[in-house]
Amino acid sequence: MEQQIQAAADAIRSGNLVVIPTETVYGLAADATNETAVAKIFAAKGRPSTNPLIVHVGSFAQASALVREIPDWARDLVSRFWPGPLTLVLKSTGVIPYSVAGGLNTIAVRIPAHPVALRLIAAADRPLAAPSANRFTKLSPTQVEHLDPTILSSVAAVLDGGPCEVGIESTVVDATGDTPVILRSGVISATDISETTGLRVTTAQNSVKSPGHHPRHYAPRAELRIVEKITDSAAGLTFGPPGLGQVQMPPSPLGYATRLYAALHELDELNPEYIEVEAPPDTSVWEAVRDRLQRAAHR
Ligand code: AMP
Ligand code: MG
Repeated sequence: MEQQIQAAADAIRSGNLVVIPTETVYGLAADATNETAVAKIFAAKGRPSTNPLIVHVGSFAQASALVREIPDWARDLVSRFWPGPLTLVLKSTGVIPYSVAGGLNTIAVRIPAHPVALRLIAAADRPLAAPSANRFTKLSPTQVEHLDPTILSSVAAVLDGGPCEVGIESTVVDATGDTPVILRSGVISATDISETTGLRVTTAQNSVKSPGHHPRHYAPRAELRIVEKITDSAAGLTFGPPGLGQVQMPPSPLGYATRLYAALHELDELNPEYIEVEAPPDTSVWEAVRDRLQRAAHR
């Protein structure tokens, strides 16, 4: 692996793309300080250039160099959750080209909790812009077998780190104001954030503050229908004993998140007419999973 990481680091420094494992989902990475390299990410994903990317760094010092100020409450979040699936949106110093952030004067940054990603960031000695390694609006890959051929043909290297532990994208928190605003839900919940900061947490998941957070996203090829109870003959995700073409999902939100995209990828391979998904409980711990399912079901 060390040799592969070195080769990948060379590719990054030469302005090419690399698929990287992170604890959330696989990322499509480029040198975040190189505008030409970052433009390749938007092209490979088919992603609108107004849709900002997350910058991955290896240390708090590296993050600090990219942003103007980090409020005390955001430092509390960093101490508790970095490295980990928490992204902070902060005011940019301009070190990262504005095109990386879709023209905004803010930057989204996190330290990923994955040894391979961290070794690559260190070897390349660059912050990495890395959105999920999926085509725009499609399912995110949580193992290399899920990678789309268009993505594969656009990269210089693929680093295989096995299945992703978290399985869904990071929680995105706007830290440019006095209190935390959740722009995208994830396994780090509003409760975690309010307990850590002692502040009231609000949610703005569909606001202009979170551009590119489209109502349709994370979608399998087949139409996804959220149902109370799965039909006997339907392909889909169930909490109960599975029938043919059905996947039994873990009863806990963390276990469910880890399994979600892989299960949808597996069902998509069967080319079903549609996929039924039993609705998880309407409680706060299920917020991130419900968010992904609702977006995947949006047509
Ligand atoms: P992805 O890179 O695919 O995990 O998605 C990144 C998401 O993070 C975007 O779609 C936005 O919702 C959010 N994001 C990234 N940068 C910013 C920013 N500067 N301001 C607000 N939201 C951001
Ligand atoms: Mg994404």
